Amino acid sequence: MKSHNSLQELVRIKDDPQGRYAADIHDDVYFGFPVAPVLAAERALLAGKQKTIAYFSMEYGLATSFYNGFTSVRPVSDANRVIENEVFSNERIADYLFSLKVDALVDLPIYSGGLGVLAGDTIKTAADMKLPMVAIGILWSKGYFKQRFWFKFGQLPEEMKWDPWTFPGLIPLEDKVKLELKNKDIYLRLWKYYVYSRTRDHVVPLILLDSNVEENDEAGRRLTDKLYRSDDVSGRILQRLILGMGGIRALEELKYPVSIHHLNEGHAAFAFVRKAGDDPGTDPDALKSQFAYTCHTPVPAGHDRFSVGECEAYLNPQDMALVKRYGLESPESSVVNLTVLAMNTASSVNAVSWKHGEVMKLQFPAYKERIKAITNGVHFSTWVSEPILKFLDKFGKDVGDYRHDPRLLTHVLSLKDNHAFRKALWEAHRENKKGLAGMLGRWRLKEDVLTVAWARRIAAYKRPSLILQDIDRLMDIAKRVGPLQILFAGKAHPNDNIAFTYVNEIMNTIDKTQDQDGLLKILMLENYDIYIAKMLVSGVDIWLNNPLPPYEASGTSGMKAIANAVVQLSTVDGWIVEAKDSGIGKFFGYEDTGRGYTDGLALRLSEDSSDLYASLEDMARLYYGTNDKDGIHVQSAWIDMMIHCLAEAGRFNTFRMLHEYKSQVWDMK
Ligand SMILES: *Cc1c(COP(=O)(O)O)cnc(C)c1O
Repeated sequence: MKSHNSLQELVRIKDDPQGRYAADIHDDVYFGFPVAPVLAAERALLAGKQKTIAYFSMEYGLATSFYNGFTSVRPVSDANRVIENEVFSNERIADYLFSLKVDALVDLPIYSGGLGVLAGDTIKTAADMKLPMVAIGILWSKGYFKQRFWFKFGQLPEEMKWDPWTFPGLIPLEDKVKLELKNKDIYLRLWKYYVYSRTRDHVVPLILLDSNVEENDEAGRRLTDKLYRSDDVSGRILQRLILGMGGIRALEELKYPVSIHHLNEGHAAFAFVRKAGDDPGTDPDALKSQFAYTCHTPVPAGHDRFSVGECEAYLNPQDMALVKRYGLESPESSVVNLTVLAMNTASSVNAVSWKHGEVMKLQFPAYKERIKAITNGVHFSTWVSEPILKFLDKFGKDVGDYRHDPRLLTHVLSLKDNHAFRKALWEAHRENKKGLAGMLGRWRLKEDVLTVAWARRIAAYKRPSLILQDIDRLMDIAKRVGPLQILFAGKAHPNDNIAFTYVNEIMNTIDKTQDQDGLLKILMLENYDIYIAKMLVSGVDIWLNNPLPPYEASGTSGMKAIANAVVQLSTVDGWIVEAKDSGIGKFFGYEDTGRGYTDGLALRLSEDSSDLYASLEDMARLYYGTNDKDGIHVQSAWIDMMIHCLAEAGRFNTFRMLHEYKSQVWDMK
């Protein structure tokens, strides 16, 4: 293979007459980062000497606003900045007068929530581990949506306007691919974004597919505009065909030899159909060894189902035969289920926590023997805060090079009796809280008050308003033990009417709890995104997680909190099942015994909230006993919990997770 010399030879950037990219990409610089790792990674991928993973995901949350963000000489469009968000609180005057100043570059807005963040954390870690990987996704030209508050009446979804043409690090390629469907072809422009390792010595290229090109008709151009927001079945099918089949075409066009196609969720399941359909001479079963599938949710709505007729509208008979052979819910069924398609065509199938593995086996008994469980993680370097990093570095001799290998964080347990260590940890946390209190100072958030956060996607099974079930009880705890601050954030999918009512309920409750003598402060932050997530997972004292078991497959926001020594108050579901005996917090509520999996949701709000208040009161006592008028009590059991959190961050990270994928799924050394 001829050796390539420059980026321009390796990466065909779209004809750039205005020299838009010349200032940011030249001999040895790529948007402020070194270009050499790009050349090396591209050459290695093209040479195909190593086993290469193609990772497919509908969404990616890369945290570009604060982690490994590129710089750009050329001005960035204002559309790519977040200036401010509203806050809805029981400090009402402040809400009218102020907004939360953000003023940061927007995160590459091609994600909606946990699945995307996991995908982003995964490919960042693959870059850290120098794995030969290329990632495939979609350039959502209008993102997911921007959440706007509508006084106390709930949320209004607003179109997310951003400008891919001035987003630092994102480049349009000359290459276009054609997705051949039954009655029409869809053309896709390819974009590239390089995901660098922490030390900037390796990259994973992320290829993004974009249907907004002149070759397509108007409807075709809109196919890749809004993530999970198409109003009709045809849009949903076409988006999945674009990711799965268009993704295969993109890999071919860019000449990446791929050993394993890893499907992060079933959205990309048509990738197998494209591969098998292209090669009618071989037995499709033989292709299964090139496919792996990770399932991310037991919630039925998370599994794509289409009728055979709906699929037939777009797929030619030969592809349709493959869909029917591998994707029907049962041999007599006329329902195509992408989860079934993915499970039937992948040689490796996995759930995302031990508990989810058990639940998945009950849901899909026919696949019981084949379902593995690999627990999710988070990318430590993305989610850890500066004060915690500085604190850990002071004790680097005992902890080891945890930045390189976060599994070493378990070593903090050896420092549990070290007075200086305990004190410094408390102080690092105080600094984080001070930062949050500073950002929300207009709402008089206090750094010495116990602060709880509930922040995630608003969905019924996550029970957003559980802690608001009984305000009198909260006030009672606040009066007897100490004041409370509760922060909320979360978006409800615009078509999810039940989720909408939760946003409304939270706001109404906040509205009714004005003037609590500083005892109970409740805030809801607008437009929950990765930026706000980072601020909350490090700046609060208690991370509240109360899904109804067994619907939370894993959950990852709590893992971001433990990376910052923030203790957990949680029901026992998802990853927590594996961590609850490690002293990282307090656990309450209904537990699923593994026998009674049903699709019905009985939310158990009154029983579980009562349990929640009892646990919260215990935690409040511990917290207020740790730092009182006599100063810090370094021996406090609260600080024990914080240390255990950091130690568990040694397990619940994507470094450990990818080592498991390497050995159990990809069969790599
Ligand atoms: C981590 C994260 C999530 C996932 O949170 P869960 O607790 O797993 O539901 C969702 N949204 C954003 C913005 C996140 O950063």
